[in-house]
Amino acid sequence: MADVIILGLGPAGISAALYTARAALDTLVFGREGGSLAKTDHIENYYGFAEPVSGRELLHNGAAQARRVGAKLVEDEAVGIAYDGEFAVSTASETYRAPYLVLATGSQRRAPNLPGLAEFEGRGVSYCAVCDGFFYRKKNVAVLGAGDYALHEAKELLPLAAKVTILTDGKEPEADFPPEMAVETRKLAALTGDGSLHGVRFTDGTELASDGLFVALGVAGSVDFARKLGVETNGSSVSVDENRQTNVPGLYAAGDCTGGLLQISKAVCDGAIAGTSIVKAFRQKAK
Ligand SMILES: Cc1cc2nc3c(=O)[nH]c(=O)nc-3n(C[C@H](O)[C@H](O)[C@H](O)COP(=O)(O)OP(=O)(O)OC[C@H]3O[C@@H](n4cnc5c(N)ncnc54)[C@H](O)[C@@H]3O)c2cc1C
Repeated sequence: MADVIILGLGPAGISAALYTARAALDTLVFGREGGSLAKTDHIENYYGFAEPVSGRELLHNGAAQARRVGAKLVEDEAVGIAYDGEFAVSTASETYRAPYLVLATGSQRRAPNLPGLAEFEGRGVSYCAVCDGFFYRKKNVAVLGAGDYALHEAKELLPLAAKVTILTDGKEPEADFPPEMAVETRKLAALTGDGSLHGVRFTDGTELASDGLFVALGVAGSVDFARKLGVETNGSSVSVDENRQTNVPGLYAAGDCTGGLLQISKAVCDGAIAGTSIVKAFRQKAK
């Protein structure tokens, strides 16, 4: 078991890790050297660089810096989180536990531009299988996504629902979906319904009836995890207090996923505050 798990190898996650690892807390950091920073070559508003620096260079140096001070970096993504007094973070292959967790997965990606998606949110469309699966007992449900996160959500639904169909929306499946899940790779045109969701329509005009649609595209982000843990959110941001702690004890969030200024300097500041707050709480608990 680690002392703290951090989700995100961006400026917020790495900054938190620098503080926790240097305070001798066993620190595990998950993520990939991607995120927003990887999309920019020319940063000239971050402190300490006389010449513009690329996002990739910052990411690379940040990861090396965290490793040097003792943080353990894992090139993998979380697909699920459970809380039973401490946090259990699952990747596609393993589960890791820690009493403290920092969500620092960057800003939430947007949902697909699928007609009907917004209209049926809360009336058939859900973003959280563990929260809403219960409402679909013995019903037909679909999961929108093609990767490990979609597989994780579908596994939550399988024991409850009558049938689970994976909708990859034109993508090749990226995870090993078991035979008891139907996989439908046709492209989607729209969601159908009348006040509540009745199903989906494919671009070839045919329809699939479904009582629920769980959106699990790409990689799970901080807001997805926050929803599963019953954490307060504000639109597409995780709500935190001045210590970057959420309303769940031991759970912190930092950087773009908490909204506000979407800049490296703010992400680094958030990470530093979350990291130092965890060190303080950890030491108080150990007394
Ligand atoms: C094109 C572009 C240009 C920009 N230019 C500037 C600029 O010039 N100056 C500036 O200050 N800011 C700039 N920004 C904003 C800046 O990149 C972000 O504010 C900053 O990177 C946010 O840091 P973060 O750590 O919160 O998130 P990110 O940097 O997005 O890092 C998120 C991390 O979370 C990981 N992750 C995601 N999901 C999971 C999961 N399920 N499990 C584990 N890990 C996960 C990712 O792999 C990644 O490592 C720019 C952004 C973009 C898109």
